[in-house]
Amino acid sequence: MEDIIVQKYGGSSLETIDKIKNVAKRIVKTKLSGNSLIVVVSAMGKTTDNLISMAGEICTEPAPREMDMLLSTGEQMSMSLLAIAIQCMGYNAISLTGSQCGILVYSDYSNARIGNIDTKRLKGELSKDNIVIVAGFQGENSDGDIVTLGRGGSDTTAVALAAAVNAKKCEIYTDVDGIYTTDPRIVHRAKLLKDISYDEMLELAKLGAKVLHPRAVEIARNFNVPLVVRSSLNNSEGTKVRETVSMEKAIVRGITLDKDIAKISILEVPDRPGIAYNIFSKICEANIGIDMIIQNVHRNAVNDISFSVKSQDLNKALKITKDICKEINAKEVVSDNTVVKLSIVGTGIMGDPSVITLFFETLYNLGINLEMISTSEIKISCIINDYKAEEAVNELHSKFKLDE
Ligand code: ADP
Ligand code: ASP
Ligand code: MG
Repeated sequence: MEDIIVQKYGGSSLETIDKIKNVAKRIVKTKLSGNSLIVVVSAMGKTTDNLISMAGEICTEPAPREMDMLLSTGEQMSMSLLAIAIQCMGYNAISLTGSQCGILVYSDYSNARIGNIDTKRLKGELSKDNIVIVAGFQGENSDGDIVTLGRGGSDTTAVALAAAVNAKKCEIYTDVDGIYTTDPRIVHRAKLLKDISYDEMLELAKLGAKVLHPRAVEIARNFNVPLVVRSSLNNSEGTKVRETVSMEKAIVRGITLDKDIAKISILEVPDRPGIAYNIFSKICEANIGIDMIIQNVHRNAVNDISFSVKSQDLNKALKITKDICKEINAKEVVSDNTVVKLSIVGTGIMGDPSVITLFFETLYNLGINLEMISTSEIKISCIINDYKAEEAVNELHSKFKLDE
């Protein structure tokens, strides 16, 4: 078999029939240059959001299984339309759902992880000279049900397939020219990066740079998949995500703003052992990811505990937290959905005092109050109010000389 290339086209690249026809032309061009081709697609434009709001009009808490059945149809629409467009140009193409493509997943609905990929069917179709179009963002669980991989999960499908067939590269096509120093829609001076290390990209993705799904980066790193992010609208080279990128000193590589965050605080919690265990074990049991946690020490044997969750989990987390609040005799629970998480990322930045100082000084000069802070060797994050957040990203971008 020829060298295999995996390409993934995001929703913005497949938004209209004209865009689908344009993508079909690009795919045929790659095929004609002598490659076996697997193409992963997302749902057209805002289809997934629209499906979610349709279900929301019927029921406030739709069953997760039915939501996954519903959301998986978005990708199925794109895959067949794209296969039809390629066939119409006179080339062989076949569309496959995640399950037909052998993608077996485990764990929960709406946030499944890929466990194994049985590549028999996929390789069989490639050997018949078919361009294989795969529905991203979905797989089959042990009950034979369709399960989705979490928002933005088509990137993960693409990289996992590239790893499974040992593809020579995985190209992620999107609506910007590659990975920038920050979201180019927030900072117009953002600079396109020629390359970025897996570790830095993983951190940026986890912290909200939605250009790549974090698990896609994790798989690319673990299986050494050559990964490129580029535009579906032009021929610019894009950004390579690779093992190491040479740098003389620790520098800030990127800034992220995650607007998908909410904060919950439990006030006047009795100060005794086992309380944190009680609270967070119940939140985790409900499969809610917790991000930052802070505890303010008070006098009189009580303190406040605050933590952040994804906005979509806020209602579920609040319900559980309010029950626990009664149980442990705390005063009350308050929440805030107007917060965002602002972060800077770069290898070794926490070891550089000048970076730490400049970060906090810049936010201080803007009069921004920091509600929570967390750091690792490679990032500094803080939770702030969304008012002034974009201004902060712009200012940090200049102060750290990312425009240059
Ligand atoms: P797709 O539909 O192709 O999957 P997404 O909307 O998921 O596209 O991701 C692309 C978007 O990610 C861009 O339009 C951009 O606004 C946003 N983005 C956020 N941070 C960055 C960054 N550092 N570099 C590039 N794009 C970014
Ligand atoms: N369509 C899904 C979403 O909107 C998956 C993806 O686009 O990668 O989240
Ligand atoms: Mg995406």
